[in-house]
Amino acid sequence: MENTPRSGSESAPVSGSTSGSGGPTARRTEDEWREALTPEEYRVLREAGTERAYTGEYWDTHVEGSYQCRACGAELFTSREKFDSHCGWPSFWAPLAKDSVVYVHDRTLGMDRIEVRCATCDSHLGHVFEGEGYPTPTDQRYCINSISLRLVPSGD
Ligand SMILES: [Zn+2]
Repeated sequence: MENTPRSGSESAPVSGSTSGSGGPTARRTEDEWREALTPEEYRVLREAGTERAYTGEYWDTHVEGSYQCRACGAELFTSREKFDSHCGWPSFWAPLAKDSVVYVHDRTLGMDRIEVRCATCDSHLGHVFEGEGYPTPTDQRYCINSISLRLVPSGD
């Protein structure tokens, strides 16, 4: 069964199309995401939805640990950068590492916002705002959906 029939209708991967510098490593098709995630997770992570304020699992959590991408498990944030923004979503003043998230200019809903996505699997996490006056080292607020994250408590 080594011969793969070439019908010509399939689009073969174009060699050289992968831009070298570490693109998303956890790509799945949307069908695969639909199977891997709950409907609500899918709506937020893959369709850039937003959970309702004060309804998520982690907006008021103070447990020490790291926050992973719920879709792919990449480590994105830690409890050290989490702060009480009282906005109803988990808020961080910085990601775990500069390259753990990517940014997309989002002009939907008549607003000018910066969307935050997981750099590993390109799933939607939330938005980042700055200059709001929070007493944090960066004055940035990564406003992230609880459902996009999974808290892994530290400790042995
Ligand atoms: Zn991810």
